[in-house]
Amino acid sequence: MGIATSPTLDARVINFIGRTGKILIDGKWSEAASGKTFDTYNPATGEILARVAAGDRIDIDRAVKAARKAFEGPWGRMTSSDRGKLIWKLADLLEQHLEEFATLETLDNGKPLTISRVADVPLAVDLFRYMAGWATKIEGTTIPISVPYAPGAKFLAYTKREPVGVVGQIIPWNFPLLMAAWKLGPALATGNTVVLKPAEQTPLSAIRLGELITEAGFPEGVVNIVPGLGETAGAALSAHPDVDKIAFTGSTEVGRLILQAAAGNLKKVSLELGGKSPNIVFADSDMKAAIGGAASAIFFNHGQCCCAGSRLYIEQSIFDQVVEGVSNQAKKIKVGPGLEPDTQMGPLVSKEQLDRVCGYLESGFSEGAKATAGGKKIGNQGYFVEPTVLVNTDHKMKVVQEEIFGPVVTAIPFKDADSVLPIANDNIYGLAAGIWTKDISKAHRVAEKLRAGTVWINCYNIFDAALPFGGYKQSGWGREMGKDSLELYTEVKAVCTML
Ligand code: NDP
Repeated sequence: MGIATSPTLDARVINFIGRTGKILIDGKWSEAASGKTFDTYNPATGEILARVAAGDRIDIDRAVKAARKAFEGPWGRMTSSDRGKLIWKLADLLEQHLEEFATLETLDNGKPLTISRVADVPLAVDLFRYMAGWATKIEGTTIPISVPYAPGAKFLAYTKREPVGVVGQIIPWNFPLLMAAWKLGPALATGNTVVLKPAEQTPLSAIRLGELITEAGFPEGVVNIVPGLGETAGAALSAHPDVDKIAFTGSTEVGRLILQAAAGNLKKVSLELGGKSPNIVFADSDMKAAIGGAASAIFFNHGQCCCAGSRLYIEQSIFDQVVEGVSNQAKKIKVGPGLEPDTQMGPLVSKEQLDRVCGYLESGFSEGAKATAGGKKIGNQGYFVEPTVLVNTDHKMKVVQEEIFGPVVTAIPFKDADSVLPIANDNIYGLAAGIWTKDISKAHRVAEKLRAGTVWINCYNIFDAALPFGGYKQSGWGREMGKDSLELYTEVKAVCTML
């Protein structure tokens, strides 16, 4: 049955999907200047879900002009308290429309509705509330200066944190709404204006969010939303000479392209890129918690998480037991369409992603890996793949070194903390890591040595608006969420007065 005739879907969702998704520029919704559109697909069926305006260079240019005008106009003049209130209002509106957003996210991305309801939408609401509070707390410092070549002179010197200006934001498809919130929240709290480009696979929640932004009363042009393709709209945004900063989440490969494009006007760049995170289980861990934690570290969001615990290192003496436990959990996961109430894992986001994950499985098997659970795609409708545990893997294999971005974990035994650290750190990425042990000193000793932006001890995938997130090495530049994210969206101005 097609979405348009589904009896179970909220009428607002059906109505929204039935309209062609438009572009939001300067507070007004329009078609793309070229008149072109693209289709977004339901990953559970492979059928077309909705049609969306395909913005490109001309639309990006109009959006940047609108953002500049708003930055220099009403938004720039607004008090920080009023800015904070608007962001809070947006959070309230989003919360009021939780069910609608959860459904849109599930339809467009494929994830289970139960997860969109308890994770994606509430985390986005919470992020906006957290950032609303920061709007009034962007402070500088007063600095006592001595100036050795001006003996006897007196100065008053202070710093201010000012918005960077017009910010381009390019987001991925794995947590479409939440990634929009992670990007918009700190940018708006610090007084910037934004041009946001959602991913072509999942543009719907960002477009609907644009409607709530208008309803909340943000001045025209503060947030402009331009759906479109990466190589056209995304590339134009990263290269635009009047964009002051670009914030990107996605693949390391595209992160490099963005850096090159940004070089033209040396715009500031923050990047949240790939990962291949080690999850280390010691023999002295709480075994039940470690097995459950290792399974959810990789299978949450179908492994389509940049921080997925995709390299599982298990102390030799408990290797078989943990592999068996994680494999049993993998086999029990109910895979199905995200809208089915008992679904625990939905489809991958696209045919391209399904092919990519299946390609990695083939590569692993051809190099000698064995699956103790899963190992292949499911059926011929939609983009489903089995939750998979691979053993007989070694450090050099592609499946151990490269980001798969699917529900595939490699399990490798280790002897002790000293021997696991070098292999855990020997990867181009450094986004996250997990440690499972009851020995608290060992946990912190190992945490200190792991080259990763986040280390979870006896837990995994714990996110909070207050907790900074981002990567070492090729996992990116800068941090999102928390106080640290505000630095990416502000310039420091030093003001020095002779008294
Ligand atoms: P991409 O990096 O291509 O997509 C992320 C965003 O970048 C999308 O909005 C995309 O637009 C945009 N984009 C693509 N090309 C350009 C460009 N030349 N200039 C500016 N923006 C561009 O990721 P994929 O969707 O191709 O996924 C590939 C792999 O990337 C995954 O398998 C995974 O390993 C990794 N990835 C990592 C994520 C993370 O959270 N760190 C999230 C998603 C993917 P559009 O989609 O419209 O082309």
